[in-house]
Amino acid sequence: MSDQDTSSAADPYVVVARRYRPQCFEDLIGQENIVRALVGAIESDRVGHAYLFTGARGVGKTSTARIFAKALNCQQGTSAHPCNECDICLSIAEGQDVDVMEYDGASNRGIDEIRQLRQNVNVRPSRGRYKIYIIDEVHMLTREAFNALLKTLEEPPAHVKFFFCTTEPGKIPVTILSRCQRFDFAGVNNSAIVQLLQKIVEAENLQAEPEALQLLARQAGGSLRDSQSLLEQLLAFTETTIKAEDVHALLGTAAGPVVRQLVGSIVERDTAGLLSATEEALEGGIEPGQLLGQVLSFFRDVMVSAAGCGPDHFFHLDPADVEAIQEAAKKYGIPQTLAGLQILEQALSRLRFAHAPKITAEMALVRLCTLEDLQGLSDLLGQLGSSDNAPTAPPVASANRSRPQATPTAPPSGNAPASSQAHSSAPQTAKADLAQPASSGTLTPENLPDIWPSVLERLSGMLQENLSQGTQVSYIDADKLAVTFDAAYTFGKEFCERPEQKKRLEDALRENVGSPVRVEFHVQPADSDASQPKKEPRRSARQRMLERSRHPLVSRAKELFNANETRYEEPGP
Ligand SMILES: [Zn+2]
Repeated sequence: MSDQDTSSAADPYVVVARRYRPQCFEDLIGQENIVRALVGAIESDRVGHAYLFTGARGVGKTSTARIFAKALNCQQGTSAHPCNECDICLSIAEGQDVDVMEYDGASNRGIDEIRQLRQNVNVRPSRGRYKIYIIDEVHMLTREAFNALLKTLEEPPAHVKFFFCTTEPGKIPVTILSRCQRFDFAGVNNSAIVQLLQKIVEAENLQAEPEALQLLARQAGGSLRDSQSLLEQLLAFTETTIKAEDVHALLGTAAGPVVRQLVGSIVERDTAGLLSATEEALEGGIEPGQLLGQVLSFFRDVMVSAAGCGPDHFFHLDPADVEAIQEAAKKYGIPQTLAGLQILEQALSRLRFAHAPKITAEMALVRLCTLEDLQGLSDLLGQLGSSDNAPTAPPVASANRSRPQATPTAPPSGNAPASSQAHSSAPQTAKADLAQPASSGTLTPENLPDIWPSVLERLSGMLQENLSQGTQVSYIDADKLAVTFDAAYTFGKEFCERPEQKKRLEDALRENVGSPVRVEFHVQPADSDASQPKKEPRRSARQRMLERSRHPLVSRAKELFNANETRYEEPGP
């Protein structure tokens, strides 16, 4: 054997996950509770004869079983801190010890292996204190194999210990489960994974951008082993520093600015901008699934932020991301964010079978972009549902209780004829809805009917509720309007008159109009209410449908769903 042969045989390349495999309980990452319990059992000499370790792949189940085996059989004596230097510790670490048998349930599924195991179980260990069986992926065993195993578990010899590991405890027969001490391994959190990766990078005499390790951890989804094998691929072509862009190239993911631009377009409801940003990302070699996954993870943080948690709970730690997330959380709120997450999740699960993944991704993103429309629609449905009169009620009563018909007239308190004028002009008002843009800088009789619904939309809670019961909104001047309540709703007027509520309304008005507008509140005298129904001609169902169909929210709903109205139903009382 030449020198060269000797060195290459003695120094073969060992993969990162094995080179950095934990060798003692203290090395185990993210499983503190389990470690405490196992160490306690060893130190108090209460070790069971069968353990079941469950949890996702790559979280340390088999490593824990090996460390436990060393703890039991170390030549220095049973200890929660095996020496890691004796022959037995070293050979267990290599998976070569004669008394520690490792089976892979996936490849040794059959009864023959288990039968052999049963025969060997009764033979005393050759040099250690215990015969230890580690069975990985134990759920893969056949039913016959489980039955054979069960016989051993029912009467285990004192010198035998079992460690079963599985990702799917649900597939293990209850008879086996009931004879094991079970430990559920949690997924490892991102910051613990990042710490481990950082240690490995340093041990390899390299450097890494923090963002790069964050990305790896996020991609690994709680699996240390996955994070290590990803890192390994990067180590192969890194000379000095692992960069975030290297990770993106490896994973087929989009860099931070690309994702931020996408999410920005979604939040701004800029569908065209969104589609071109998507196009650019996909043409740059980013996988549609990865892109959606990134947007999903972003919106996950939006949800966390909307729920009131700070950036320390975010996946995204880049200050630019944090800012964008908090901005989006303010605009979206929890229900809308949840709706968005649902869209993304559904699209991601459909992607696997999609004929055109790109289109599936685009559809999902555009749907996200129009989420606010859906919110508006649901408000609209709520308003229509609560506003309309029963078919038999007189038309004016309907106007009284409805979302106020804004009319370009003076309030009734000013001069008597104004109120009748107001009601007869209502149909013209509906027409103005279509003609005028919502904001033109100053309040006019023409734009009031458009502005008022937007103002109501902007408000929420009791204020919105009470204003929706105002009889009528009237233009007084370019900086003044009046809300007149039905005599039955004076409490609504009182609520809206409270300084803080009045200010909210005036703020919303200023934002919609573009200049300050003051509001005064009035009550419709009861007698005029009684006299008016006669003056108002009864509108036909057709007329009412036309009015509804011209409502800006209805137009938006039609646009959104590419729909036409087919019938108009009077809501029940
Ligand atoms: Zn030892």
